[in-house]
Amino acid sequence: YADRTTPRLERRKLGRTGLMVSELGFGASPLGGVFRPDIDESDACQAVHEALYDYGINVFDTSPYYGHTRSEVVLGKALARLGERDDYVLATKVGRYGADNFDFSKERVRQSVEASMERLGVRRLDLVQCHDVEFAPTRQIIVEEALPALSQLRQEGIIGAIGITGYPLSIYRDVIESSPVELDAVLSYCHGCLCDTSLVDSGVLAYLTDCGIGVLNASPLSMGLLTARGPPSWHPAPETLKQHCHNTAEWFAKQRASTRACTDIAELALQFAVLRLGREGVASTLVGIDSTETLRRNAAALMAPLDEELLAGVQRLLAPVRNLSWSSGTPRS
Ligand code: NAD
Repeated sequence: YADRTTPRLERRKLGRTGLMVSELGFGASPLGGVFRPDIDESDACQAVHEALYDYGINVFDTSPYYGHTRSEVVLGKALARLGERDDYVLATKVGRYGADNFDFSKERVRQSVEASMERLGVRRLDLVQCHDVEFAPTRQIIVEEALPALSQLRQEGIIGAIGITGYPLSIYRDVIESSPVELDAVLSYCHGCLCDTSLVDSGVLAYLTDCGIGVLNASPLSMGLLTARGPPSWHPAPETLKQHCHNTAEWFAKQRASTRACTDIAELALQFAVLRLGREGVASTLVGIDSTETLRRNAAALMAPLDEELLAGVQRLLAPVRNLSWSSGTPRS
């Protein structure tokens, strides 16, 4: 595990927002029990505290959707133990409230922001994002209702910055170019990791940074595909991708078995996402953290050297499924 003398992580600008975020961010969806239900809340609160004060991880991302508000509630308890509000950057979302429950109307956006602040125990949010915009019934409701409502809250000083999240890379440009208000940030997930580098390869990362938009690269372990434990049952990846990741994780564990090093492919996956892709224009890479153990493991991984030979071996095994994606969102004609 990391010792307490671990150097702090680099900080980067989140686009033009003026916010400085650590290159590794705290993804709080696991605090809602979405990967495993048995979250130890007091350990999770300790993880938030350690993340900020021992490792310099200053960006925390949540949503009312994660665990039906549980992630925000648990994170709120943890934030209450932190010092100054200005010490950290707090991001949450609006619009998604269940697997099939979406509401991007302007009235709901305002209510949602108020309810999130209440659960999180804060009077201001640094970033609020429309959650999974590809599921909105129409693109208009995002650009004509949700984003203008967020922009109004930004003008009122209740929120600092606004953005969108979603899986298909094509949607960001589509929303940005049709939005009447300026976006500050985009959260992309599962496209900046060992098995999928399309955020960079497609030119989307360069496009976003050229627009002055801050990019959050989420799910560096591809929501569990790139871990020894494997993905949760709800993971949307096609079977062939799951199988290749499983075989690769087993191969990795065997290579490492004779050494004292960690045998979980998650370590290499995190190093690759943060230390390689993360340095190509990403503001922060958001990894899901559910405990002090996960936090310490991840902090230690970033301080360890990246094993180039193992990386090449893993990339060879994953080559047949590289950039293989899955469909996400409401089909449109
Ligand atoms: P991830 O790839 O970061 O993590 C997947 C799982 O691996 C989690 O259960 C995590 O706790 C676990 N893990 C973390 N470090 C590990 C380690 N060293 N060894 C073994 N397991 C480890 O996926 P994620 O949590 O879905 O993504 C990170 C964050 O990004 C989320 O918490 C959320 O804040 C954000 N996110 C947003 C969206 C969206 O807006 N649509 C989608 C995905 C992720």
